[in-house]
Amino acid sequence: MSQTDPGTPLGLFGGTFDPIHYGHLRLAETAREALGLDQVRLIPAGQPPHRATPGASGEARLAMARLAVADNPLLEVDPAEVDARQASFTILTLERLRRELGPTRPLVLLLGMDAFLGLPTWRRWTELFDYAHIAVANRPGYHLDDAHLPPALQALCSARRAEPATLVTSACGALVPFVMTPLAISATDIRGRQAAGLSLRYLLPPAVIDYISLHQLYL
Ligand code: ATP
Repeated sequence: MSQTDPGTPLGLFGGTFDPIHYGHLRLAETAREALGLDQVRLIPAGQPPHRATPGASGEARLAMARLAVADNPLLEVDPAEVDARQASFTILTLERLRRELGPTRPLVLLLGMDAFLGLPTWRRWTELFDYAHIAVANRPGYHLDDAHLPPALQALCSARRAEPATLVTSACGALVPFVMTPLAISATDIRGRQAAGLSLRYLLPPAVIDYISLHQLYL
């Protein structure tokens, strides 16, 4: 990479991943293709500030994420939020990644629609755009405008919405929707199925199912 080349866009995908499942993995894979990302870093949250304590420990959620991406060099797992052993705030993670990767590399924070709708409750949320672009997964045929967004997000869309091509020309600041066929899979449902003794097959990678069963998680 030359001094003036900002580098290829890196995707960042945070979540509780309790456990990681095919909905998460498809979102990462779809975003990588649709947005021309070099790689996607999955970042399991340590202690998520917005929700109850996860069912599995940070170490277990990290181990499951690593098993899930083991055969795909384009997806990697970042352990920093779990290792930090304090409340996870995305803005702090972005500050760290900027220190690590420098000011010019395009960073693209990936969000599912439910996470996007909750964005105005995140700590220092408007500052996120000083560090990264944000890409939001949309259902096919659905537009951000259809979501009857709250005023804060409507204003954000008018000010920042851009095409994927923007992601290579600047390091941060754009809001880019991308299309993803939804998979109706949730970690809540998976935990419930495990507690009820029901099959988890075809909802998440076999290596993760084996880990859950070996460590008797979510019972
Ligand atoms: P839970 O059921 O415990 O709330 P979850 O399955 O929604 O968990 P999270 O770890 O909370 O998973 O989600 C991390 C990110 O993944 C969020 O941006 C969320 O929108 C997205 N996501 C979760 N499930 C899916 C899915 N099936 N398809 C697309 N995106 C998803």
